[in-house]
Amino acid sequence: MSRTEKSQELFARARSIVPGGVNSPVRAFGAVGGTPRFMASGQGAYLTDVDGNRYVDLVCSWGPMILGHRHPAVVAAVEAAAAHGFSYGTATEGEVLLAEELVSRVAPVEKVRLVSSGTEATMSAVRLARGFTGRATVIKFAGCYHGHVDALLASAGSGVVTFGLPDTPGVTGASAADTIVLPYNDLAAVEQAFASSEIACVITEACPANMGVVPPAEGFNRRLRELCTEHGALLIIDEVLTGFRVSAAGWYGLDPVPADLMTFGKVMGGGLPAAAFGGRADVMAYLAPEGPVYQAGTLSGNPLASAAGLATLRACDAEVYARVDAAAAQVGEAASVALTAAGVPHRLQRAGNLFSIFFTDQPVLDFATAKTQNTAAYTAFFHAMLDQGVYLPPSAYEAWFLSAAHDDEALNRVVEALPLAAKAASSRL
Ligand SMILES: *Cc1c(COP(=O)(O)O)cnc(C)c1O
Repeated sequence: MSRTEKSQELFARARSIVPGGVNSPVRAFGAVGGTPRFMASGQGAYLTDVDGNRYVDLVCSWGPMILGHRHPAVVAAVEAAAAHGFSYGTATEGEVLLAEELVSRVAPVEKVRLVSSGTEATMSAVRLARGFTGRATVIKFAGCYHGHVDALLASAGSGVVTFGLPDTPGVTGASAADTIVLPYNDLAAVEQAFASSEIACVITEACPANMGVVPPAEGFNRRLRELCTEHGALLIIDEVLTGFRVSAAGWYGLDPVPADLMTFGKVMGGGLPAAAFGGRADVMAYLAPEGPVYQAGTLSGNPLASAAGLATLRACDAEVYARVDAAAAQVGEAASVALTAAGVPHRLQRAGNLFSIFFTDQPVLDFATAKTQNTAAYTAFFHAMLDQGVYLPPSAYEAWFLSAAHDDEALNRVVEALPLAAKAASSRL
């Protein structure tokens, strides 16, 4: 067992002044129990906590750290930007460079607007879709997470499912009433909804990864595209998690279905707060100051965040994606082999370099099947890995994230820790 006195002490202090002691719910270890680790530093594939414990990081800040922690090119870019100033409340060159990088990578993005979080990106994209179409109703899918936007919190993945929260209090009936929640991968349900309501937009994760990884069925995204076009609705593909992680062009690079609007975050900020939404030029022209739909942000396009994002994207070459792909394949397969050897029912679900392990024997096609998991088995697995110095997502409903910095040494540590963890999981079946 690792020592956790300092994390315990900080957590106690935090809980007395911060709700749950954390600034984002899943960090609290609520689903797995125990003391959340307060991290002090990161380097490459590793994290070090305030008690001096070192972990192979399989969370990577929930996706952004695709190059690993403190990549020299990103550190240099942020230091150079910081030397000039932090924020001016004016336009800067860095924003233009970052926007050009995004537009050059993802063909359907003709124009883009920078914001500071994925939540802001999806919230703004939905507002723009409503403003452009003059319609109110949004279709979303159960288990898809698009940030904590009021209209999109119904049956959301990520922390909402981790904690088994009901439809969140504080979201008014009026804003929930304009959202239709459908089962993922169910095209008949989408067709039915289009037949009975006037739809402003469909928002979907490019490949859902916030209820665990649930790949879209063959042709699913393409059929959503067709239905939106037929009915004059906009298709919003949320690539906040997949964007620039699964390929240089994100999920679009693997499954080139053109959305009207797309959202980005995570990798494009390189660990600093940067996100974006973009798409068709005629739709984006509806945004202020060109058009009537208001959207703004004091720190949007922040110079440090733009520098970190640009340096990260520029460093993400073919070799980086090949390394992340190989590392993800190796860890996913090794985990599955260890669980099989220990007799633990599970499903390894993969989509490009995204993967997660569901502690169930059923194929997971949607949110309902995702919830057949044995979360007690995951909890035992998680803590056994943590005790051996591997930091997994503290929830059974999250993807595991690798980086290009996960070298053989880091990967071997993970592989060596798996058999004991699988054994721990088998004791909770
Ligand atoms: C993380 C995430 C968001 C929200 O991004 P934040 O920066 O946490 O607000 C939105 N959509 C998807 C698909 C995500 O994975």
